[in-house]
Amino acid sequence: MAILALHGGAGGDGPWRGLTDLDPRRLQCLENVLSLIGTKLQSGQLNALDAVTLAVEMMEDEELYNAGRGSVIAADGNVTMDASIMRGCDGAAGSVVNVKRIRHPIRAANLLLHQGWPVMLNSDAADIFAIKNGVEEVEQSWLITDLRKAQWQKWRDSKGRPGSTDEDDSAVLDHDIDLEIQDGMGTVGAVALDSQGRLAAATSTGGMTGKPDGRIGDTAIIGAGTWCDNDVAVSCTGVGEAFIRTCAAHEVSNQLQKLIICGQENPLLNAANNVLELVAPLEGRGGVIAISKQGEVVLPFQTMLMYRGYFNDGEIKTGIGAEEYDFPHPN
Ligand code: ASP
Repeated sequence: MAILALHGGAGGDGPWRGLTDLDPRRLQCLENVLSLIGTKLQSGQLNALDAVTLAVEMMEDEELYNAGRGSVIAADGNVTMDASIMRGCDGAAGSVVNVKRIRHPIRAANLLLHQGWPVMLNSDAADIFAIKNGVEEVEQSWLITDLRKAQWQKWRDSKGRPGSTDEDDSAVLDHDIDLEIQDGMGTVGAVALDSQGRLAAATSTGGMTGKPDGRIGDTAIIGAGTWCDNDVAVSCTGVGEAFIRTCAAHEVSNQLQKLIICGQENPLLNAANNVLELVAPLEGRGGVIAISKQGEVVLPFQTMLMYRGYFNDGEIKTGIGAEEYDFPHPN
């Protein structure tokens, strides 16, 4: 059994309005990653940790997602990126915070995981560590795309603020702004179960448009945006502050244990949904992808959409709104 699941961010309220002009490209990226990395995972060429790292790197390279090149722009006009990764068998983890000069933040987090100590590095120190260890150095001007400049300008014009509530009508998750100008996408994440039964999880993001200098989202925080143990691998997306305050990714594992003991059916789906319900009253909303060691794979979300997909022993499915597409998806 080999399973790889991906998300490309969640956002928006109300019913899904259908494919935007850019969505086929986002779906194609998901399908390429699922097909390439999923097949290698299944054949045993990749273990779970390498699979989630490579999957997230490929998504960091797709500028329509909010990670790596094409990350959203902070209040000060710069891109600053967070990423974290965790391996289930030994709880090894790595995380980088507010990096600005590297192409693949998830590779830097992976290098920290392998180094073993420290688990987290921030800002310049994280960039320097990554570059010294072979992660490609890039300019801010390369990371910032025209699409993101337009989105940032829209945020400035609307005086949006990060973390604002749904009711303010100015929340700044990617999709919330983007849906109107049809160019939205989000944070990326991957979870995997390899043929040896090993689990891993990884998440990478530019954060939220207009975030204040120094803001750290859930994506960088082990237990909030990313968690993996021997039972479950989890990657979250959404309003990060609420996911931090609920230790959301770790809480999926907690809930799963309880539901298994109670003998519930579909325990992982119920665990993930329970966590989304904990997040909601804290002005948070978003989605979760998770795989259990038993091979249950779930991708629930409480927003209008979540870009997502999975490879499950050769079967590939992707989705944006409530429905799912078989691979290849209809254009
Ligand atoms: N969770 C991310 C953050 O708060 C944003 C997202 O998932 O879109 O930085």
